[in-house]
Amino acid sequence: MIEQIFNYFGEANQIEKLKEEVEEFIQAVKNKDIDNMEEEIADIEVVLEQFARVFKLDKRKVKHIKRFKVQRTVNRIKRGYYKRWKNASI
Ligand SMILES: [Mg+2]
Repeated sequence: MIEQIFNYFGEANQIEKLKEEVEEFIQAVKNKDIDNMEEEIADIEVVLEQFARVFKLDKRKVKHIKRFKVQRTVNRIKRGYYKRWKNASI
């Protein structure tokens, strides 16, 4: 069902749509608009879901990669890996 949207509008338009939805989410965050943030996350996920379905991406693999990356970033924070960037902006 969701891939019908992708197939109707096409890849190039859905790439643009994703950028647009991310921009809307950023604006909602800047406005501290919780309802709008929720709406824009839903919009982003709908587009991401289209790419996942059309390209038959492995959702379990995506979940696994997410878990790995969160853990890696937390470990890097603990080890002070990002300090140079934090200090650079001060
Ligand atoms: Mg939107």
